[in-house]
Amino acid sequence: MRVLVVEDESDLAEVIARRLRREGMAVDVAPDGRAGLLKAAVVDYDVVVLDRDLPEVHGDAVCTELVRSERPPRILMLTASGEVGDRISGLDLGADDYLAKPFSPGELVARLRALERRPALAHPPLLRRHDVELDPARRHVTRGGHPIDLGRKEFGVLEVLLRADRAVVSSEELLRAVWDENADPFTAVVRMTIMGLRRKLGPPALIETVTGVGYRIP
Ligand code: CA
Repeated sequence: MRVLVVEDESDLAEVIARRLRREGMAVDVAPDGRAGLLKAAVVDYDVVVLDRDLPEVHGDAVCTELVRSERPPRILMLTASGEVGDRISGLDLGADDYLAKPFSPGELVARLRALERRPALAHPPLLRRHDVELDPARRHVTRGGHPIDLGRKEFGVLEVLLRADRAVVSSEELLRAVWDENADPFTAVVRMTIMGLRRKLGPPALIETVTGVGYRIP
């Protein structure tokens, strides 16, 4: 198991590294967030032990960045406090586990072993058509590599159209998929949303209207 320890308290980093090496793990240490990201960009780590309170780049930002990488490592976050709020936001950012300081090195080893056995988080595949890319997990859309800021309904409609894989989707189907049951059941709202979506996606036109049938991305 290849492990990166990102921890600015050098004594603690050294204690952790020594212990993990004794367990037969290959361990690198980075003293701040920026150094951690640089190392993770060149080495495929199985697990990153990530202190949350880091200089240069905060642990939360490091976590977000690592999760976005092509082959994300599993992440165990170290937090100063074991507060529930800390734990939840850490996991929201994509950390696989967290450990509150102070912890025993044995506990850390046990958590790392558990992460090693756990299959990597399944990230749903990106949806792509022409130069548009939609990431369902991170709710992020780009066109020609440029991020596009979509509203919730716009995002939902685009996702359904991309998943349809060139097939025509009717307004009623879009309503059912994207709006909840209490929504105004008029297809005008779909038309308005498609209009907004087209405007934000810009030229060349991506979404085609199939008169009397619905919409598609050919
Ligand atoms: Ca720290």
